Amino acid sequence: MPTSTNSNPTLKDNTTNSIHTEVLVLGAGPGGYTAAFRAADLGKQVTLIERHANLGGVCLNVGCIPSKTLLHVAEIINEATTCKRMGVKFQKPEIDLDTLRTHKARVVKRLTQGLTALAKQRQVQILHGEGRFESANSLIVTNTLDNTIDNTIDNTIDNTSDNTIDNSITKITFDHAIIACGSRPATIPNFPYTDSRLLDSTGALELKTIPKKMLIIGGGIIGLEMATIYQALGSEIDIVELQPQLIPGCDLDLVKVLHKLIAKRYRHIMTDTAVTGIDNKPDGLWVTFNGSKAPQEPIRYDQVLVAVGRVPYGNQIDAPKAGIQLDAKGFIPVDQHQRTNVPHIYAIGDVVGQPMLAHKATHEAKVAAEVIAGIPTIFDPLTIPSVAYTDPEIAWMGLNEITAKAQNIEYEIAVFPWAASGRAIGIGRAEGFTKLLLNPQKKRILGAGIVGRNAGELISETVLALELGADMEDLGLTIHPHPTLSETIGLAAEMAIGSITDLMPSK
Ligand code: NAD
Repeated sequence: MPTSTNSNPTLKDNTTNSIHTEVLVLGAGPGGYTAAFRAADLGKQVTLIERHANLGGVCLNVGCIPSKTLLHVAEIINEATTCKRMGVKFQKPEIDLDTLRTHKARVVKRLTQGLTALAKQRQVQILHGEGRFESANSLIVTNTLDNTIDNTIDNTIDNTSDNTIDNSITKITFDHAIIACGSRPATIPNFPYTDSRLLDSTGALELKTIPKKMLIIGGGIIGLEMATIYQALGSEIDIVELQPQLIPGCDLDLVKVLHKLIAKRYRHIMTDTAVTGIDNKPDGLWVTFNGSKAPQEPIRYDQVLVAVGRVPYGNQIDAPKAGIQLDAKGFIPVDQHQRTNVPHIYAIGDVVGQPMLAHKATHEAKVAAEVIAGIPTIFDPLTIPSVAYTDPEIAWMGLNEITAKAQNIEYEIAVFPWAASGRAIGIGRAEGFTKLLLNPQKKRILGAGIVGRNAGELISETVLALELGADMEDLGLTIHPHPTLSETIGLAAEMAIGSITDLMPSK
């Protein structure tokens, strides 16, 4: 337990308390709570600061988990529609939005409450409020919440007291700190953000209404996932993307499969096009465009989602007061131990840079906690996989063709089209393919891309293959169960070796 320099447990407005902690973790998203739990398991006394009422950060509360819950519903709706081709016809679905929102909230609550229980078991102290550095060894937390969660310390170390806290202030001194303060949605200047019809990803996941006509600005992962959800629930979707292709940075052959399918479902996909203005009128948001696919006249939408990336929160924690260097964008540079330029302060997750993914944050978190506990370790993955949970899904890892070409890296590709997969044909999803990138000399795996049903699950095998230095024989000779989509990885490797019998081997 922290030691207190203030023995009065009953706090008044703007009271300042002081506590000391061995490891302070700022932010309780996947990075922050993982760091806190690992540090506690390694014997450290930990205080976790979170400004929101729930633990879990963006991912659990307003990101990965609610979006995947809704994407599952979208998948069922889409599957039911395509079943018509198989001789099974369902009625048009009736959407009970209240029940859907309740279901989503229950999923989130179950997970966030689970985290609170885990924190309690580990005696990680949780302090709700906004944390800002005061110096290299102290942080000020301004409590803006009415804390109701069991193991919160309500801005005092004595949680046996009758302490309802508002606007109190806690000074925490620490031996080590781990910054895991995350990121927020990026905005485009001069849009009417006070209009509730203009959404960011958090607002879109609230699912207040199903708009008839929706524009999604940004054809990246968030934009395309939200498009999948809203289209399945009944919205007409337009997407506008600044770059010439959707999901810029992902190999075009993978993206093309998705693009072709959603082009039939959505009204317009305007790549190479920008939004030049949004005029909020009583009858809707009137949007003007500029670019190669831009409509000439303004178009009216019931809702517009802005999904143009995320910006780190590095600038909002008074990092310079602790002597922590930030880059121009607000990211905090770290070394392989997750150390900032201030040796006892570490940073992890979205705030240290791309890719802004929960599974990167959790691994960085363990490194930071272990280094603090004296375990010699570094963050040194060969790859961090990416998944767009669209329909179909796209997943990729390691080297892709865009990077290989840009960096003049020699590679070969081996592709197994799902049109030759009995399982894919059987489930009516033969549009996908599995692609491996390999080293021409040693035939070692360098990267992989999969588009199709469950690509996000399938990619893990290739990540393991890369981490273990597997070559095409390792993958091709590994017996995959039949009939599965996972066997397309073994079959792609057989394409590389030339031992394929399900298709003609390439000469
Ligand atoms: P993103 O960077 O993936 O995509 C943003 C897109 O917006 C890009 O394609 C960009 O070209 C486009 N864009 C930028 N400015 C634009 C403009 N003015 N007009 C039109 N298009 C514009 O960002 P995101 O989709 O917002 O996601 C944010 C972060 O969250 C990413 O790092 C992503 O990896 C992460 N995320 C991951 C998942 C997942 O793993 N499934 C899901 C959601 C979010």
